Amino acid sequence: MTERSYHVITYGCQMNVHDSERISGLLEESGLVRASGEGPSAGADVVVFNTCAVRENADNRLYGNLGHMARIKEQHPGMQIAVGGCMAQKDRDLIVRKAPWVDVVFGTHNVGSLPTLLERARAEREAQVEIKEALETFPSNLPTRRDSAYAGWVSISVGCNNTCTFCIVPQLRGKETDRRPGDILAEIRMLVDEGVQEITLLGQNVNAYGVEFGDRRAFAKLLRACGEIDGLERVRFTSPHPKDFTDDVIAAMAETPNVMPSLHMPLQSGSDKVLKDMRRSYRSRRFLDILASVRESIPHAAITTDIIVGFPGETDEDFEDTLRVVEQARFSAAFTFQYSIRPGTPAGSMPNQVPKAVVQERYERLVKLVDEIAWAENRALVGQDVEVLFAEGEGRKDAATHRMSGRARDNRLVHVTVPEFPAQRPRPGDIGQVRVTYAAPHHLNSDEPIRGLRRTRGGDAWEALHAAPTGQVGVGLGMPTMRRD
Ligand code: SF4
Repeated sequence: MTERSYHVITYGCQMNVHDSERISGLLEESGLVRASGEGPSAGADVVVFNTCAVRENADNRLYGNLGHMARIKEQHPGMQIAVGGCMAQKDRDLIVRKAPWVDVVFGTHNVGSLPTLLERARAEREAQVEIKEALETFPSNLPTRRDSAYAGWVSISVGCNNTCTFCIVPQLRGKETDRRPGDILAEIRMLVDEGVQEITLLGQNVNAYGVEFGDRRAFAKLLRACGEIDGLERVRFTSPHPKDFTDDVIAAMAETPNVMPSLHMPLQSGSDKVLKDMRRSYRSRRFLDILASVRESIPHAAITTDIIVGFPGETDEDFEDTLRVVEQARFSAAFTFQYSIRPGTPAGSMPNQVPKAVVQERYERLVKLVDEIAWAENRALVGQDVEVLFAEGEGRKDAATHRMSGRARDNRLVHVTVPEFPAQRPRPGDIGQVRVTYAAPHHLNSDEPIRGLRRTRGGDAWEALHAAPTGQVGVGLGMPTMRRD
């Protein structure tokens, strides 16, 4: 009997990307293999949509894609379609009413139920909808199929205790649940044993980590503990929150060599009035003071952010405040979003929704300013040496100029000219020193020879993976690699 195959389609944040690694791990543990065919379903017997509900068009996109999948399913007897993630947690059985060809709907709190629900739907020839109001199992206890041999995501908490008025996450992922430090460190050690060089600690608000077990300094302690793990080259984390960002975390970042000098700190708006309406619990002065403290302790830190333009009630003056803060903050990059109503959030029913044309005009001005500053910050690095962890499938790999890409310690994207012969090139996961020879707004180039190339255990793991017939990585407990859209 031929093995059934699966295909996971992921939308949204890093939490979802990591959850999709769990979904793949669960399906592989129940005997399915990753599909490798063409088209939206990749020719799979089981297609899983891991959905996001952050923005208005999330609904349209999901139901549109489910419509496409219906026609594919008609041609593929026995095919099953499952919908999970935040849209499933929000819409529940509405999904099977609007798309009756869907076989399973599962929520953000019961990812582990998927294989059982698929089996039950097949046996009973009836759609299965199972949504839980609270977390059943901490996701890290589920089997995982990691996407990368040398980099891994590690969840430290799920859910969020904040109530930002534009955000639907607390309703769909629940209150914050913290994982015990011992479990986190055990998973990291297991990943390093597998060849992982870089880990990213994941949480909706990593700075609040420990609130559930009464230790407000737990996150800084966790960063320092990561510094004790041999073979762990790089530690990153996302997302921090300015309201809980404390000096002990800055000290831990500055004093722990393998914690990277890069910080993604969501600003959202530079206007104190808008920050109040967003219920972000900090103001622009506090935000800039944190950046100043970080730069005092870590002068070469690269700081990135998230900014929403056109929040209800945002005036021209408010927007000018945002531009002023961006000028002072000198971000190396920013994810910029045009506000869109998220039904079910307080902001969704606020008065003074800003007209689309005004939002668009402000958005273009913001992106222009952000790119000018990012480019200026990048140009300042020309002539400097940076350490690059080479990556697979990232950025440009143009055969003509023999380039590979990777990330510097401050998370900047670097395209590096590499030797013509593959045997002389770094492998993804390897680490080398390069001199920056050119700067663009969103990346750096190095056209000089790589120096001090280290063939790492991450590179070995990548090579072993790509030598292996199935190319499977770490199907096992608690092993862990985005995209932001
Ligand atoms: S901190 Fe705010 S924006 Fe982030 S997940 Fe929590 S409620 Fe949403």
